[in-house]
Amino acid sequence: MSGVDFRRPAGQLELSVLLLGASAVGKSSLIRSFVGENFRFTNPATVGVDMKRRTVELEKRNKIVTLTLLDAAGQNTFESIVMSYFRSADFYALIFDVTSKSSFEEVDNWMKRLNDLENMAENCIFVIGNKVDLEKEWKVSETELTNFCNGFPDPKPIPFLASAKTGELVEDVFTEMCEIVLDRMQTKKEKDRRSTIDTTLDPPKNSPKPKNSDDCGCLIL
Ligand code: GDP
Ligand code: MG
Repeated sequence: MSGVDFRRPAGQLELSVLLLGASAVGKSSLIRSFVGENFRFTNPATVGVDMKRRTVELEKRNKIVTLTLLDAAGQNTFESIVMSYFRSADFYALIFDVTSKSSFEEVDNWMKRLNDLENMAENCIFVIGNKVDLEKEWKVSETELTNFCNGFPDPKPIPFLASAKTGELVEDVFTEMCEIVLDRMQTKKEKDRRSTIDTTLDPPKNSPKPKNSDDCGCLIL
């Protein structure tokens, strides 16, 4: 995880998210909505990777995070995109269109591809069903989405719904994703610190008793 540095002064956190998914599911539209640009009925196809930035207020932790949004083009360029961008992303948002079953099935492929990549096991992955405004055309239910995410081992992908068109839930989804990612980063950092302390204190199993110990075998510090 590259973008966040807890040594920075409070309020100067940085995170980056890579949006992936089939074409026309609304990746570019979600980003446009989140950065306050108008919804467009036709977006020019994204070429390669597009990048936008926005600051996000995290009220729960009283901090501001600068979020870099990386908008990836269609799946055919997966290899080249991911090779150059996946290391710089702190987390991944797999987008599908709730009115398109095939775009939802694509998410499974993206999960497999991401899981095949080195060092990806611990990264935060979110699955976002977009176009919830098309109420009568839903082909994927919220339950299907939740069950899909629950079918993975921990850390499970986290499900969200949104509409780039109406802006419904867009702000909440991006803010919540940042909160979750920062929580996990902090938990991991604490776990790493604890395990460093543990290995420093635990002598190897077959090592002789420390010289400055009495019969109880405890280290006297
Ligand atoms: P991308 O290829 O994944 O970047 O998809 P785009 O953002 O270019 O959007 C593809 C099409 O879906 C465009 O015609 C958008 O206007 C439309 N679209 C995107 N988001 C929504 C949404 O939330 N609701 C509806 N109804 N249409 C959307
Ligand atoms: Mg696009």
